[in-house]
Amino acid sequence: TSQRKQASRQRFVTEFSQCLFDFVVQLLPTQEELAVKEDVRKLLERLIRTIEPDSRLLSFGSTANGFSLRNSDMDLCCLIDSEDRLSATDMVTMLGDLLERETKFHVKPLPHARIPIVKLSLDPSPGLPLGIACDIGFENRLALENTRLLMCYAMIDPTRVRSMVLFLKVWAKRRKINSPYKGTLSSYGYVLLVLYFLIHVKNPPVLPNLQQIPPLRPISEEETHLQGHNIWFFDDIQLLRQRWQSANTENVAELLIDFFRYYSRDFPYSVGVASIKNGLLTKDSKGWQSDLDSPRYNDLRERNRFCIEDPFETDFNVARCVTKEGLYTIRGEFMRASRILASRPERAIVALAQLCE
Ligand code: ATP
Ligand code: MG
Repeated sequence: TSQRKQASRQRFVTEFSQCLFDFVVQLLPTQEELAVKEDVRKLLERLIRTIEPDSRLLSFGSTANGFSLRNSDMDLCCLIDSEDRLSATDMVTMLGDLLERETKFHVKPLPHARIPIVKLSLDPSPGLPLGIACDIGFENRLALENTRLLMCYAMIDPTRVRSMVLFLKVWAKRRKINSPYKGTLSSYGYVLLVLYFLIHVKNPPVLPNLQQIPPLRPISEEETHLQGHNIWFFDDIQLLRQRWQSANTENVAELLIDFFRYYSRDFPYSVGVASIKNGLLTKDSKGWQSDLDSPRYNDLRERNRFCIEDPFETDFNVARCVTKEGLYTIRGEFMRASRILASRPERAIVALAQLCE
């Protein structure tokens, strides 16, 4: 019987892997959608240049890192190459006025937010049945770099990494645990959880740690640092793929089953910090938790229920928005997923439908 069980498990993971792949493919943005988004970016860049002639408007986030789903929002970042540039707050106010006058976008400038941005949206139309949502920020160079890091990880093993990440993003949205404003986790946070799992938990690892591979030639501090943060990582993925190959041969389904099991059972939420750069760290070592019961430490504890270290801004907890209730819900969802997959329904497609119900 153990042989029969083994065979039935093998059948399930093979079928489930194929299902996942087919499911994800139909959620990718169409060529048409990508083209429209690029047109929007160009239009906005032209308009911004009437205020700051030396500016460039670049895509970051999912539209630029290979983890984009159909109809995902556009994250844009404006870089200004001149010395005496306007402040982000002034740019947001001026650009807000300009876009309101010159375009059909709904415009909402947020000049006084922690990171000042202009929020834009376009109503659905025949060519764009779902409309467009877009945020424009300024001088957010670290976000451009972390987008490039995620893109490099996606390129190392496109099939397994992209399928896993895209599935997890859809799953988190369908299960309603993807709202930092409501106490759960951002997409960026989920992507970091997947990468942490593939780099540090799986043995043998599915991905190398790009931030710990030594550079091919000596590199100056100036080249590796941005705003006081070390942003160096090995980005010659073509060369890497010639020299390094993962010894891990599990398919997407096996990895996903293990992923859900790890985050429902094994990750040490109360004391641990997931870091793609440094592996598993402790909250204590980062000063992100204190056992003291004084109210002074309460805020710290509330903000650090769930800890995911940013790859570059290492003093920044990407999951600081996650509340006590949010974490409870997220862990409950990991357990639910794990339970569904462990029960191995007769047909893989049924498991998939149940997961994303
Ligand atoms: P979606 O397709 O759901 O929009 P996304 O990949 O664009 O997903 P977001 O969570 O929208 O992910 O984040 C977009 C970018 O913003 C990230 O790539 C990252 O550069 C930056 N970012 C988002 N959240 C954080 C955060 N908590 N800390 C640091 N950077 C963040
Ligand atoms: Mg986004």
